[in-house]
Amino acid sequence: MSDASDCLFCRIAAGDIPSTRVYEDERTIAFMDINPGSRGHLLVIPRAHSADVLEIDPEDLAAVALTAQTMAQRVKDKLAADGINLINSCGPLAWQTVFHFHMHVIPRYEGDTLRLPWQPTPGDRDDVAAAARALTP
Ligand code: AMP
Ligand code: ZN
Repeated sequence: MSDASDCLFCRIAAGDIPSTRVYEDERTIAFMDINPGSRGHLLVIPRAHSADVLEIDPEDLAAVALTAQTMAQRVKDKLAADGINLINSCGPLAWQTVFHFHMHVIPRYEGDTLRLPWQPTPGDRDDVAAAARALTP
């Protein structure tokens, strides 16, 4: 097990660090990425700490996949996404920077210029908030 004592996403899950939540259930939380690659980019995490796909409890992995599917449907329905990338990175070589398992849900739009790996840059706060409102029932 990796160390959860100083984990950013554990602190977000606990509510000790603010985030813009758009979904939660018993096992998972979805919140907006602060450096969105596209409008509506969000992250799905398990509440329980695990570093990556090699370490996560299979039931948490299944729960994250289901929440990612729910949110993929929402970005299509509510933000009119034309496509969606679900991305998980495992290890620094694969671009992982936060070592609490997470799935990126990245809406794609006809003609967008997003290329991988995207360069993290802070999103416009008002637009992130507006996208979050659209994604929250
Ligand atoms: P990765 O590089 O796959 O580990 O993704 C980590 C993601 O977490 C990046 O897209 C960051 O923009 C995002 N991130 C980092 N800190 C926060 C935060 N406080 N709230 C929301 N997203 C964050
Ligand atoms: Zn954690």
